[in-house]
Parts: sequence; C-alpha cells; structure tokens
Amino acid sequence: MQLSKFSYYSDFVVYPVVVISLVAANFSHITWPTAREWLAAGLAGLLLWTFLEYVLHRIALHRMPVFSPMHSLHHGAPLDLIGTPSWVSVSVWVGAILLPLWWWAGFHVANGITVGVMVGYWWYGYVHHVIHHHSRKPSSAYFSALRAWHMRHHHSPKRGNFGVTTHLWDYVFGTAISAQGKAVTSP
Ligand SMILES: [Zn+2]
Ligand SMILES: [Zn+2]
Repeated sequence: MQLSKFSYYSDFVVYPVVVISLVAANFSHITWPTAREWLAAGLAGLLLWTFLEYVLHRIALHRMPVFSPMHSLHHGAPLDLIGTPSWVSVSVWVGAILLPLWWWAGFHVANGITVGVMVGYWWYGYVHHVIHHHSRKPSSAYFSALRAWHMRHHHSPKRGNFGVTTHLWDYVFGTAISAQGKAVTSP
C-alpha cells in the first residue's frame, strides 16, 4: 500500500531493533551447543525467507485479488513509497512463525528461525529499495546484477524473476527470465 515517508523507512530501523531484542531475549539460553543449534535455525529461517519471498510475490502479489491491486501500484510507479507497514509485517512474523514454532519446537529454535526470516525480510526491503531508488548511482556488481534481474521482472513480456534477493527459486520452479527476455526453461 502507499506509505508515508516515515512508514516506508521505518522498516530499516524497526527490524534491527526487533531482531536485537529477540537475540537479547534468548541470550541467557546460549551455550556452545545451543549456539550452533540457534545458528542452524537462523540459517533455516533465512532460507525459509527466500522461499516466502518467491511464493508471496508470485502467488499473493501477482495472483490473489486481495493483494495484487496493491502490488500493481508498485509495478505502475516503482519509485512511489509502496510497501507494508512495519507493525503489520512484524505482527505476521510473530503470529505465523514465532508463536507456532515456540509452541511446537521451543523458544530457542523459534527465536532462531524468526530472526533468520526477519533478517531476510529486512535485506529484501533494502535490496528492493536500492534497485529502484539508487538506479542512477554507481552500484556494485552484486546490486547491478540484482537490478538487471528485477528489471526483467518489471519489463519483460514473460512472467518471472519473482525472487528479488536470490534467483534460486526461479530456477527451481522454471520462472527465471534470461537476459534476452526468454524464460530459461522455454524451448
Ligand atoms: Zn511483481
Ligand atoms: Zn520492484
């Protein structure tokens, strides 16, 4: 949805604060074996985020009538401040990931996975912002490659390149668009 400047940029502050608070809340449980378990949970959370980034973009934002009009605003005006308010996204991660996993696997694992998902979401927001809003400034090869990839999502007649921070799931599900604008899996 269209956000105020304050609301649009608040993710960049709110997420580090929430992530640091979650890590601090779990700090007393940390010993060397549990730290390894927590790190593994965090990496699983990051991987889970990349999958959610792909699925939410491909299905919720492009196929579901409840969400797709909001995403169409971004496609129509990529420089407008369009996004999800921090309080909504944080509530979703707490309600859909932290609390169910806490009940099912305990706070330690739930904490690690939620931190991984939130760090992934924060990084996605940053990458997507840089791709659109810093396009006239010199970028590293990393950001230039992600920008070219995402521009094919915006401008190619093919539908694809739904991943923003990673190409992984587009290759897995056959929706990657090559630099020539052809779907990679098409004959
Ligand atoms: Zn899109
Ligand atoms: Zn975009």
